[in-house]
Amino acid sequence: MGEAAPGTNLWSTTAGEMLAAEPLKEDARADAVIVGGGFTGCSAALHLAEAGLGVRLLEAQSIGFGGSGRNVGLVNAGLWLPPEQVEQTLGQAVGGRLNAALAAGPELVFSLIDRLGIDCEATRSGTLHCAHSQGGLDDLKDRLRQQLDRGAPVELLDAEETAARTGTQAYRGALLDRRAGTIQPLAYCRGLARAARDAGAVLHEQTPVVSAAREGDGWRVATPRGSVSAGALLIAVNAYGRPMAGLTPQAYVPVHYFQIATRPLTDNLRRSVLPERQGCWDTAPVMSSFRLDAAGRLLVGAVGSLEGPGARWHRAWAERKLAALFPDLSGIDLEHAWCGRIAMTGDHLPKILRLGERGLSVFGYSGRGISPGTTFGKAMAAYLVDGDEGSLPCDPVDAHSERLAGIKQAYYEFGASLTHAVGER
Ligand SMILES: Cc1cc2nc3c(=O)[nH]c(=O)nc-3n(C[C@H](O)[C@H](O)[C@H](O)COP(=O)(O)OP(=O)(O)OC[C@H]3O[C@@H](n4cnc5c(N)ncnc54)[C@H](O)[C@@H]3O)c2cc1C
Repeated sequence: MGEAAPGTNLWSTTAGEMLAAEPLKEDARADAVIVGGGFTGCSAALHLAEAGLGVRLLEAQSIGFGGSGRNVGLVNAGLWLPPEQVEQTLGQAVGGRLNAALAAGPELVFSLIDRLGIDCEATRSGTLHCAHSQGGLDDLKDRLRQQLDRGAPVELLDAEETAARTGTQAYRGALLDRRAGTIQPLAYCRGLARAARDAGAVLHEQTPVVSAAREGDGWRVATPRGSVSAGALLIAVNAYGRPMAGLTPQAYVPVHYFQIATRPLTDNLRRSVLPERQGCWDTAPVMSSFRLDAAGRLLVGAVGSLEGPGARWHRAWAERKLAALFPDLSGIDLEHAWCGRIAMTGDHLPKILRLGERGLSVFGYSGRGISPGTTFGKAMAAYLVDGDEGSLPCDPVDAHSERLAGIKQAYYEFGASLTHAVGER
């Protein structure tokens, strides 16, 4: 098998959308300042600028550097947690509001892509949640019932229909969600940023915020070469936050997820492997995913870090998994391998933190983020305009802590390493 160097992120080599922004080098004023240039920050910047506010968005590295430029690209409806569990944890009213907002997430994402002309390999042929075992199939049946109760256009495929749609016999069935689809995530993120700039937002890359504090009626954030004073502040750094004096670091469990990508499949193989190009993930306790990109590369991903001691097990497992799913692809050249960090919370629900008047921080999408980041970013913009917490998809809290975050992080990585060391042999 051809060697793919870790760190070669496929998305940064194939993004149709390009973007460059100058670092901040002055003391500026704005109506709102946003820290973090991922889906959340870029969506908020876009919607604030479209509402006529003066916006500055400050990104420590480049737009899409965090999870937004590294992910699988599955545009899912809802969270990873099934909707009944969301309502049990948050109560019917708030849980129902969050479920409804995120059920509409793919529609928001794909309509923005259309309206703003974002060049991001958008494919809306649904996603497949694939049952790896009888227990997995039972879980999908329960998810099906919950989704149908809420009017969602989902369908449970049997093993034969799943094999026809995926090209592999490995699964006992799959839940097809027709609201969902796939994108090139970095291109989508850059497209949101470009549209925000077209609407009047000022973007700065290579601009790490080093402190944030109340100043008069508003906020002041400082960077190495300048500052922004603004009436409203949004922190949207999720699992990639750098320390900022004046703010307590967000509490979450960092979980790594990696992907490998093959060279483009031949036309012959593409007739049987994911012929309708659904994005897929499975019900296994150590989850994995697979999808095609626009050029026909197959991407396989799973929980695990390519930067730690488990890296060689994860990579070797991914190659075995690829061959087990699609024997015709055994030994195919791999062109790319990369990984990123997910912000998990203990209850697997996103958090909105109140920082002070018209100051919010949002994080903890727990494995999702394309639809949630876009949805939360839009909702944050509405809140920062009118100050009405009813605009938010869930209620903000004054503080959030995570118990045993370090131990849980080690547990996820160790569990994934162990599974990958022994799995699919
Ligand atoms: C490998 C992987 C696969 C995933 N797959 C999927 C998927 O298929 N579907 C899905 O919906 N979700 C997926 N996710 C989750 C999703 O990518 C994230 O939830 C989402 O990108 C979070 O977006 P964000 O804008 O909140 O944060 P991010 O995209 O992480 O952006 C935060 C930004 O803040 C910047 N920043 C941090 N500190 C500072 C500072 N002090 N000053 C200035 N800037 C700062 C960072 O540089 C970063 O660019 C995946 C995540 C990973 C890692």
